[in-house]
Parts: sequence; C-alpha cells; structure tokens
Amino acid sequence: MSRVLVLDQQRRPLMPCTPARARLLLKQHKAAVWRRYPFTLILRVARPDAIAQPLRLKIDPGSRTSGLALTNDATGEVVWAAELTHRGEQVHKALQKRAAVRRGRRQRHTRYRKPRFLNRRRPKGWLPPSLLSRVRNVETWVARLMRWCPIGALSYEVARFDTQAVQNPEIAGTAYQHGTLAGYEVKEYLLLKWGHRCAYCKQTGIALQVEHLVPKARGGSNRVSNLTLACERCNRKKGNRTSEEFGFPHLQAQAGLPLRDAAAVNSIRWALYERLKCSGLRIETSTGGRTKWNRTQRDIPKAHWLDAANVGQSTPPRLLWQHVRPLLIRAMGQQSRQMCRMDAQGFPRTKAKKPSAKHAFRTGDIVRAVVPAHLKNKGVHVGRMAARANGAFTIATRRGTVTDIGYRYCTRLQRNDGYGYLTQSIRECSFPSVFQ
Ligand SMILES: [Zn+2]
Repeated sequence: MSRVLVLDQQRRPLMPCTPARARLLLKQHKAAVWRRYPFTLILRVARPDAIAQPLRLKIDPGSRTSGLALTNDATGEVVWAAELTHRGEQVHKALQKRAAVRRGRRQRHTRYRKPRFLNRRRPKGWLPPSLLSRVRNVETWVARLMRWCPIGALSYEVARFDTQAVQNPEIAGTAYQHGTLAGYEVKEYLLLKWGHRCAYCKQTGIALQVEHLVPKARGGSNRVSNLTLACERCNRKKGNRTSEEFGFPHLQAQAGLPLRDAAAVNSIRWALYERLKCSGLRIETSTGGRTKWNRTQRDIPKAHWLDAANVGQSTPPRLLWQHVRPLLIRAMGQQSRQMCRMDAQGFPRTKAKKPSAKHAFRTGDIVRAVVPAHLKNKGVHVGRMAARANGAFTIATRRGTVTDIGYRYCTRLQRNDGYGYLTQSIRECSFPSVFQ
C-alpha cells in the first residue's frame, strides 16, 4: 500500500508512515484522522524529535490525466502516487452551450441592438478556460501536497521531446530502435508528427517502428526529414524500396515539413511551469522522451503515475513501486454558474437556484451512511453524495450508485473539495504483459 501522510500537532508535515504504523497510531489514540482522501493522520502527541526527510514530487502533465508521484530519492521508494483526471472537455462543452444560447438570443426577432463596443482584451498569458482548469488542477494539488508532506523538490515534464536532440542529425541509425536517450526524444517527436499511426496503413494502437523513407542502404540520411513511423508489417513489406517506389510519394514532402505546432504542444506545460515556480521549490525540468527512456530502462509498465515517478534525470536507478496503489482523483468542479436550467430554446426550465446546503450536507461531500436493516438499501454505504432538498440523497459508492438514502443516516467524512476519489484496488492494478 502507499504510505499514509502524517501531520504533527502544529499541522506541519512529517515523514509519511506505513499503513501498519498508521493503524497502530490510531489504535493507541496517538493520532486522529485528518483527511480521508488522501488518507492523512494528525498526531495527538508532541514529536519534537521527528525529522522529515524532504521528498520529491514528480509531475507528468497530460491533457486528460496527469500523474503525480512522491518519491524518496535516497531509498528509491515511491511513497505515494495519484492520477488526476481533468475536466477540460466538460468545461469546453459547457462554454459551447452557453455561446449557443447567447447566439440564439441575439438572433431572435427582437428590436435592433447595436453591437457592443469591443473593449475586451485578453490579458497577457491568457489561457482558454478548458486549459486553465487543467493547469489549476495541478497547481491545487501541488499546493495541497506541500501542506501534507515534506516536499523539497519538484520534477516536471515540461516538454514532450527535447528539441535539441531532435535537430541533432548525428544520431546513429540503430539508435532509434535500440533505446538511447536521444533515440527516445526523436521517437516522441515522430509520434506527435505522424499522429501515433503507421504512415502506410494508418493503423493506430500498434507498436510502431522508426522507418527511413529513403533506406539507409540507398543513401538515406538519419535526419528527421527522412524519418517516419511504420508498423512492423508495412516496414517489412516496404523492404529496400523508397516510400515513392512503395506507392506513397506524398510522404517525402510531409516529412520535410517541421512539426507545425511543436510550440503549441508544449505551451500549456510552460504556463504550468511558470505557476509552479511560484511554489518556491527547486524544479527539475525534463522531457517526455527522457521519461519513457527511464521507464523502459527500469522495466516499468505504462501508467500515468508510473510515468510521473520516472520524470527527470534525478530518477533513482532502482524504483520501488510495486507496493503503491495510486489514488484516483477526478476533478468534479464546484458548482454551476448558471442560475437555472433551460430548455432547448434557451428559456428557463427550472426555478432559480437555491442555497446548495441541504440538511447540512452539500453535493460532493463524502459521507458514510448506515441504513437500518428494516429499510430498503440497508447496510453501510461510503462515497460521494449528491444532495437533494427532500433529504433523500444519492451516494456513489465503490460498488455503484445507491439512491434514496435518508439524510439522517449519513455522517460526513470529508467536505466537498471539488474532487472525487477512488483508490485503485489490486485487481485493477493488473498491467498488460506487453509494455508499450
Ligand atoms: Zn502499417
């Protein structure tokens, strides 16, 4: 199991402890539960002698899911890990809906209204809300973890590939296939450029090899302008022919073009980097090529949190990760800005919004409900709840959703903090045997 986070009496972070030790501390009443997710204890006894060894927080930002890992550089142990799922797509959809309603309203047959004076300018460093929410999610969790565990440094994957390594044509031919660091950087670049698919049969989700458009044997260079990606079958079928002779003359021109949005791919990552700098921690920057290389060198399967644990040059030669069960965190948003729901035509469908607290509970609280045996849904249910004015709550538990739970049977374990949680079980942790 992952380690348990511990705070001292003054709420300062201490070294995370093992679950066994946490159980003992709770049993002996030397500690109390401070938070359920992530599981954090607060000591009831003074520990002035406790030494907190600084840990390293590693971040692998992703568009849908970001990986977080706390590692101890001295021992190589992954102390705690999480996968943070963003809600960029939901934000995007909500804004599109709002825009559609407003557009509809403007185009209705009403009196003429002059267009508004366009005096709105975007501030410097503006990000679209869907991207900003991703950046804020990571920022929030870095700040939270800094409160709950002793973090001394950050490792952050700031780019997908190293531009220097990609431009450098001096990489020997076999380097691409046989795992040098530079080869991994080039492969990351090619994967982005060719959209993660075989250039010939357009298949995705298969193992891809770096392929020379003009074969090496016929004087083709190792520059990225002569490289593409192909599945093994196409690569073998093409053999010693050039891509033109193989029936794909357009590929040569496509390969010559630089990756159009190489800067855009990394722009959000840099925006996040600028914000992480405000944390005051030492930040080690790295690239996706390096992460993949580290992971492959150590024979570690692919997962967002394991990618995070492999970010950066500082990664210890041996990582202890098998015991970790990552916490799955999902950004849920806080409330709705909309004052009421509306129908397809944009007319109000519901009454105006009421206060969100219902019977002292709020949607998003994590509760424990103990329903007596003579009632429907009897038993104990723990999970994130949706509050309703009539006092019959819905609880999303590990096993599924239960409805109509009376508020009087519920006890709050944790207040809504904008995120939903799930701990990955051992069963869910089974990795595919073929690592990608
Ligand atoms: Zn193919």
